[in-house]
Order: sequence, then structure tokens, then C-alpha cells
Amino acid sequence: MPGPEGRRLHVVAAVLEDAGGRVLLTRRTEGRDLAGAWEFPGGKLENGESPAAGLARELHEELGIAVDPADCSPLIAVPFAYADKRILLDVFRIARWEGAPRGLESQALAWAPPERLHRYPMPPADRPVIAALRQPGCYP
Ligand code: C5P
Repeated sequence: MPGPEGRRLHVVAAVLEDAGGRVLLTRRTEGRDLAGAWEFPGGKLENGESPAAGLARELHEELGIAVDPADCSPLIAVPFAYADKRILLDVFRIARWEGAPRGLESQALAWAPPERLHRYPMPPADRPVIAALRQPGCYP
């Protein structure tokens, strides 16, 4: 069994914005770690996958939307040490996609205005994403 130092995960996540500038959050379901937390949707990268391709795969599996990896722009990469693992949360903004996001894994969805994002309980690795979205120039 690897110790806490031994588990390293590369996790990819998306900032999906609708036409009104609201951002999609998804709620972690019961039985998973951090259950009930609202997160930027995404998941673990598989071996050999590029981050943008892995994110497109995750968003298709979880939300049923089609994303072109070329439309994923890097926003921030957050290294974070949880008690049992270290992750790199690699976050991309996604300008366009096809389909309407649905919770295909029974997860709740919320479209949050950027100024309300801080009110949602989130995994700690996701928090710095809110500050990154507030940087000047991030919203036109
Ligand atoms: O979603 P999944 O459980 O595959 O993600 C692996 C780990 O990455 C989770 O245990 C969680 O701690 C972390 N994670 C996160 N923020 C996200 C997605 C995952 O901190 N947006």
C-alpha cells in the first residue's frame, strides 16, 4: 500500500460559463470522498491522456456534453495535499461545447454567478480557482 506521500493524482477540471457568465458547479455524490462539496466538474486523468483530452472525456461521461480539446484554455494549476493523497488540479476554461449539461452520474448541478461562487462549500483544491476567475482581464 502506498503511503500518503505515494498517491499522486493528476485531476482536470473545467470552468464552463453560460451566455450570462454563470459558472457550472457539480455536487459530489454520497459515498465518495468530499461528498456534498460543490466542485468544478472533471476527474482523474488516465495514463497517456493529455489534460485537455482527459477533460473532454470526463465532461462527456459526467455531463453528456461534447468539448473540443482545442477549446480548453489553461486557467490555473493548483497543487494540493489532502491527508491521503496529493493532487494537481489542472483547471481549464471552456469557451464552447455542444449539448446541455446533465448530471449523468446523479450529481446535482448549479449555475453560479461568479460573485456567488465563494458561498458554495468546495474541496479546498478548488478554492483558488475562484480567485483566478477574479483576476483583471478574466472577464471581458
Ligand atoms: O473526482 P475524483 O474522485 O475522481 O477526483 C479524485 C480526487 O481529486 C478526489 O478525491 C478529490 O479529492 C480531488 N478533486 C478535487 N477537486 C475536483 C475534483 C477532484 O479536489 N474538482
